[in-house]
Amino acid sequence: MEELYQSALRKFRKAAVIMNLDPNVQKILEHPKRQLIVEFPVMMDDNSVEIFTGYRVQHNVTLGPAKGGVRYHPNVNLDEVKTLAFWMSFKCAVMGLPYGGGKGGIRLDPKKYSQKEIERISRRYFSEISVIVGPDRDIPAPDVNTNSDTMSWYMDTYSMNVGYSVLEVVTGKPIGLGGSEGRTEATGRGVAKVTELAIQKRKRKVSDVKIAIEGFGNVGQYSALILSKEKDAKIVALSDSKGGIYNSSGFNIEDVINYKKTHGTLSGYPNSEAINDVELKTLDVDVFIPAALENSITDETAKKMKAQIIVEGANGPITDTADELLRGKDILVVPDILANAGGVTVSYFEWVQDLQSFFWKKEQVNATLEEMIEKSFNEIWDIKEQYSTDMRTAAYILATQRIAFGIKKRGIYP
Ligand code: GLU
Repeated sequence: MEELYQSALRKFRKAAVIMNLDPNVQKILEHPKRQLIVEFPVMMDDNSVEIFTGYRVQHNVTLGPAKGGVRYHPNVNLDEVKTLAFWMSFKCAVMGLPYGGGKGGIRLDPKKYSQKEIERISRRYFSEISVIVGPDRDIPAPDVNTNSDTMSWYMDTYSMNVGYSVLEVVTGKPIGLGGSEGRTEATGRGVAKVTELAIQKRKRKVSDVKIAIEGFGNVGQYSALILSKEKDAKIVALSDSKGGIYNSSGFNIEDVINYKKTHGTLSGYPNSEAINDVELKTLDVDVFIPAALENSITDETAKKMKAQIIVEGANGPITDTADELLRGKDILVVPDILANAGGVTVSYFEWVQDLQSFFWKKEQVNATLEEMIEKSFNEIWDIKEQYSTDMRTAAYILATQRIAFGIKKRGIYP
């Protein structure tokens, strides 16, 4: 029933043991604060009514309002949303953001609905979860299959209900409507930065390594683009949900993005070899970036992987047993709660800009993001050395120290 949540807890408990965490704090962090399930009717284009199931979970709000995206996917369920909310608490704390963790989702296949239907589903979902969200309570954002259009509808729905415009109720909005420069590519920018830092730790140069990326959504596309254009990296393999492509001399990512826009798939991209999922993950590359969904790297794949560095662009892409196998092979895994934290970090900048009604230049957003990511990377690295552990456990130790400080100072109410 709770497979994903239990596996996330196992990774957290490893850190709890090493850092000698107060068992009372551990108990609190193992349970989400609020879990909301909503079932709601929406009128379809053909005048029939369909019922949808949506979720919003707030895992912990010790350090500030809950923060995290909303995903639209046919496999969304409470276990997944709860786990994603759990990860958000630690992700925000790793970055030192004044937020707790939250996550939402609607169980549906967005490809099966028209844009107008998706708009009505989005608006009704947001209205339903409005009982617990708000700019100082819980601030949603984009995730899998949601984007700045979805955020505009959410913001408008909330604003219509309260009677005035509340830009800061969601982040990831369009620029010109309370959105921040650099937010769309922020997760990819963070992934690119930690990839560069990890490569340096392994005493290599970014321009000398070969990289494969799984997933070509927002995270995969911008990670590939920034790594190849700004960091001079060679991206030799890419994939989307329909299959993978390989070219040993590296891809021109802008061209691949245009191809995907026109053809809706990567398959058939000129001058590339078609590869399947196992081939992609076990290629002879230096860096592998999973940027699709959870549990993508299993024991079987982990055993065959050749990459020396794995950067988790997705949330929870490695099962807990595969994680141990990779550690045994001395593969450096940059954990999700640091690697993909660029998105929520620029979401934080967006929220701050909305609250102040004063907007930053792109250079300021990008420079502040890279500086913060590098600081957290180094803090995690120091803890990793101090405790002779892996980067994931070190990241959990850092985040847990910060949340535990808040829990202890605030005390248990009443
Ligand atoms: N959905 C993104 C994540 O998993 C971003 C969340 C946000 O910006 O609040 O980190």
